[in-house]
Amino acid sequence: METKKWIVDNTDPFKINYPQLKEAAVLLHQDQVVAFPTETVYGLGANALSDQAVLRIFQAKGRPSDNPLIVHITKKEQLTSLVDNLPQAAEQLIEAFWPGPLTLVLPKKDGVSAYVTAGLDTIAIRMPDHPVALALMEVAGLPLAAPSANLSGKPSPTTAAHVDEDLNGKIAGLLDGGSTGVGLESTVVDCTTNIPVILRPGGVTKEQLEEVVGQVEVDPALKSQEHAPKSPGMKYTHYAPIAPVFLVDGTIDFFNEIVHTAKKEHKKVGLLVTEETKALLNQEGDVVHTCGTKNDLSTVATHLYDALRSFNATDVDIIYSETFPKEGVGVAIMNRLEKAAGHKIIKMK
Ligand code: AMP
Ligand code: MG
Repeated sequence: METKKWIVDNTDPFKINYPQLKEAAVLLHQDQVVAFPTETVYGLGANALSDQAVLRIFQAKGRPSDNPLIVHITKKEQLTSLVDNLPQAAEQLIEAFWPGPLTLVLPKKDGVSAYVTAGLDTIAIRMPDHPVALALMEVAGLPLAAPSANLSGKPSPTTAAHVDEDLNGKIAGLLDGGSTGVGLESTVVDCTTNIPVILRPGGVTKEQLEEVVGQVEVDPALKSQEHAPKSPGMKYTHYAPIAPVFLVDGTIDFFNEIVHTAKKEHKKVGLLVTEETKALLNQEGDVVHTCGTKNDLSTVATHLYDALRSFNATDVDIIYSETFPKEGVGVAIMNRLEKAAGHKIIKMK
């Protein structure tokens, strides 16, 4: 299949009139899938009300069918046809964080496609904060089921070029609206329990959620691999470049030692580090990709997936990555890095 590509600037408030969006909407009404930018990562959208359209998402990504999708909406009123009842905590979180990088797991209404929810009796919903995503849904007049627009297992796409790399020829359309901002997927919060539970850490932090609804719990699976995750997607390998990734947890001297040992073994070494760490390390790495600054971890979130993907264009044998404090957005960054590394962490004794 030929993938139709459009460039849409992401600043014009009148983009709802753009012919590109109308063409994309026509494809969505034909049950085709179209990739589009959001403020987190690029999404692969299809009509959430059509089984046929939703199945095409799973096929294009090679996504396991037991991994449910997030439904994207533009107006709170759309919840009425998707959700059985809205718990009070969900109301408060919507008020505080929508549109934004927060997905709520809610009791689903009968009639919602079982393909979207992978047969669960709950549905995950979010309102993205991106003018192109919102305008596309507005023009199409449809809620869009949309996972990240990457092949399953690969790092999520933060540019249209990343989507193209993975899905060219496999999807009907791709709207290029430039780089995404947050860079990591939305925070997923289960609102079907008395106390809301974070199932996936993301752009909205636990501290921010607690300011709005008081106590928030964290799925035990996020802390220990001994527990099965409540969010089906969290059990899969994710975000992995081709070369194996190891996380290095220790001082700069320790990091230098690890790199030196690999070089003695004639390995081509890739380094994934912040600007500050790059400046302090001995220059022994063969390929160094930087991802932001330690002073502001949101910059690391923004650049992490691009840095991980960039190693695939090189012939490194091994990638060593810096680690980050598990605070604020650092929790989400470390969650993705641990998955990219398959939990291989080299700790200083
Ligand atoms: P993605 O859209 O690829 O970023 O993945 C969506 C995430 O939301 C995955 O981890 C899913 O398992 C999770 N998710 C979607 N629907 C539900 C649901 N009803 N209950 C729990 N987790 C869900
Ligand atoms: Mg994904």
